[in-house]
Amino acid sequence: MDIFDKYAGIEQRHRALLSIGGDPFAVRVDRIISATEAMIGGRRTILVGTNNYLGLTFDPACIEAGREVLATDGTGTTGSRVANGTYGRHTDLEAAFARFFDRQKAIVFTTGYQANLATICGLAGPDDVILADADSHASIWDGCKLSPAETVVFRHNDPDHLDKRLTRLADKGQCKLVVVEGLYSMLGDTAPIKEFVEVKKKHGAFLLVDEAHSFGVFGDKGRGVAEAQGVEADVDFVVGTFSKSLGGSGGFAVSDHPKFDLLRLASRPYMFTASPSPATMATVSEALRQIEARPELRTRIWANAEQLHTGLRDLGFTLLAPLSPVIAIRMPDEATAVMAWNRLIEAGVYVNLALPGGTPGGVCLLRCSVSAAHEPAQIATVLGCFAELASELDRLKGQNAA
Ligand code: PMP
Repeated sequence: MDIFDKYAGIEQRHRALLSIGGDPFAVRVDRIISATEAMIGGRRTILVGTNNYLGLTFDPACIEAGREVLATDGTGTTGSRVANGTYGRHTDLEAAFARFFDRQKAIVFTTGYQANLATICGLAGPDDVILADADSHASIWDGCKLSPAETVVFRHNDPDHLDKRLTRLADKGQCKLVVVEGLYSMLGDTAPIKEFVEVKKKHGAFLLVDEAHSFGVFGDKGRGVAEAQGVEADVDFVVGTFSKSLGGSGGFAVSDHPKFDLLRLASRPYMFTASPSPATMATVSEALRQIEARPELRTRIWANAEQLHTGLRDLGFTLLAPLSPVIAIRMPDEATAVMAWNRLIEAGVYVNLALPGGTPGGVCLLRCSVSAAHEPAQIATVLGCFAELASELDRLKGQNAA
């Protein structure tokens, strides 16, 4: 018996996938050129699967801010804030997030994944109940696993089902924590947060919204889907990440709860890991300023999303959600999805391949994410490659039917 025997199924599936072409889960970026281009496999490739929503990874002011602080503050913090101390830059960035969201409190974390782990397992104790949307991100499920609270799942984006679940739980548990996302990362659909707010108020529950993919993109100020739906005041906890619109790596959570800071003494994913690096603080702080000062970034990303969404729809692809910067294209089966992904990367277009296990409802899909930094001409090139793919898929369908 070998310790890796349990992964025989994964290994077999991976081998089948490699028999079709390159490895979609181990793409080597030989050289990153810009927010929208890289050299991959010796080819100049347009990136349409990076979550670099505002294109700030190559923003000159963000780069300069990071460069300066790298020189003055060093490469890392080398420890947790509890054991090794908090840098002024940590508290300054927390103050900037609190100001940005118009909230009393903010905490930064080392990754967005840890922001969910820390808030969920920190907020929900042994006598509490977590109610999680069925399509939640892995970091939300892992936060639930790390918490001693019972986890109850409700149907995706279904406030009525949440209402039923909460009614059944009326006498059970002390506090109820409802967890949803603003924009769902795989299909690109948004949550009806307004309706969820009505339900949570009816039952006296707390509401946490993960705005990882919607931060910087939705709402007049870029605060996310809750802002766009006008219900921020009824959201108790907002979680987000540095790794998408902010172009960094780390996470944050904000709240008006006066005791929110107790998480710093109670939540293991905050306490037992090294704090974000000084250069990260500097680039994210500058990126946050840019999100505030440059609303045109949002105008641009929505225009780009519209161009790609409309173009793909006109080519006959099945899109799985209304317009957003995340555009998911349904593929009929795993082999076709892998083949399609390979055709695109060979044509110089990088998208994400998402397969059952990582997708809701077991769908196979090609996932695109649009950036404000894309030029309309790049999106037109991408659509040209998709047009060729559509012809090939039609040809194959014809052959199979014959
Ligand atoms: N929440 C959601 C909804 C996500 O999609 C992700 C990552 N894609 C995270 C949290 C974790 O963020 P990070 O990758 O920055 O750790």
